[in-house]
Amino acid sequence: MFLTPDIPTLRLCSLLASAAYATIFIVLWARRRSETYLLHWGASSAIYAIALLCFEFDSGMPAPIANALNYGLIALSDFLLVTGMRRFDRLPAFRRWMAIPIAATAIGVALPLMLLPAANGLVVSHVVGSVALGTCMVICAFAILAGNKGDISVPRRIVGIGLLAYGPGYVVSIWVQLWGAFSSTTLDLLPMLQDQVLLGVLNLGLLATPWERALRELKESVLRDALTGVWNRTGLKQHDRELASHANSLLLVDIDHFKTINDTFGHATGDAVLVAFASRVQALAVERGGVFVRLGGDEFVMVAPTADENDARALAEQVRAIPDPATSGLPAYSISVGLARVLADETNLSPAMARADLSLYRAKAGGRDQVAA
Ligand code: GH3
Ligand code: MG
Repeated sequence: MFLTPDIPTLRLCSLLASAAYATIFIVLWARRRSETYLLHWGASSAIYAIALLCFEFDSGMPAPIANALNYGLIALSDFLLVTGMRRFDRLPAFRRWMAIPIAATAIGVALPLMLLPAANGLVVSHVVGSVALGTCMVICAFAILAGNKGDISVPRRIVGIGLLAYGPGYVVSIWVQLWGAFSSTTLDLLPMLQDQVLLGVLNLGLLATPWERALRELKESVLRDALTGVWNRTGLKQHDRELASHANSLLLVDIDHFKTINDTFGHATGDAVLVAFASRVQALAVERGGVFVRLGGDEFVMVAPTADENDARALAEQVRAIPDPATSGLPAYSISVGLARVLADETNLSPAMARADLSLYRAKAGGRDQVAA
């Protein structure tokens, strides 16, 4: 059987674990100083460890000040999780309203000790402290779960839910303060026992947050063309099967005499033409519920749903009319479009791509600046 630990022992375990997490975050931050969210999370763990230390040692301070400091530090450590997450989201870390729950916690635990007789004052102070910290936890959990523009990754969810999971511990702690110990000793220990688990959940969730984003961005960058930002061939391949719907048309697009633009105006102007063109066709593709891909060089493909052949041709003409040097300040250029519809029995884009390629060849041979189907 396990031996039942006592509260000071569990507090020591939480303190050591927090000190370890603080060290990890601060070492990571020291290597990458621009990632200041790591410093916030490190400070959060360090301050929590200090608060636990303060609980254990009588500082000789007057009780209202000591309690205000202990509880205030824990509230501050909660909010540093939020400020870190805000830095991670590239938002300003601190908001003025955050001072209110922290100050309310500190003042709330000090007042009963100043206003009530000693024994009652201590009980009320701890009850107020538990209510205030529980409230801070809920505020912080929702601030983290709210995410940034709806971006709530799994690690962020773990952190938010980890904070909410402290709730039952605070309820038990209030119960114990008001009505004395439970009959079960383990239940008395619940707040500190759950701290052993939740500290790990919270901090591992925090550690995973930047790795998850880095992995997501890396995956995304592999699928995108570095110059124009639209999908590349790999991105198209990933969605090949789902795009091979017979409701879709495929428009193979190639800039006419693009080499001449490079040769006449320079490579940088050529790049600017590619970027401007891609951004305008991409906007049209999104508007039409389709995708736009750079296959390489000056060759692109749009795959978009079209009602029938007339609709497909109208879309292709719309794309052909996109180059508009008058508004872009770029050299004049035209494009040729090869059009093909995906047929009912086709399960990937290759056959439609081959037909569009032949169409494009005809458009070029027919004098360029035109659509061929
Ligand atoms: P056509 O009308 O037959 O399509 O002629 P074109 O000159 O457009 O075709 P060609 O294939 O001869 O030339 C494409 C040029 O695109 C050649 C290459 O140097 C240039 N190119 C490829 N990638 C890039 C790029 O990323 N930036 C720039 N500026 N040029 C590129
Ligand atoms: Mg070309």
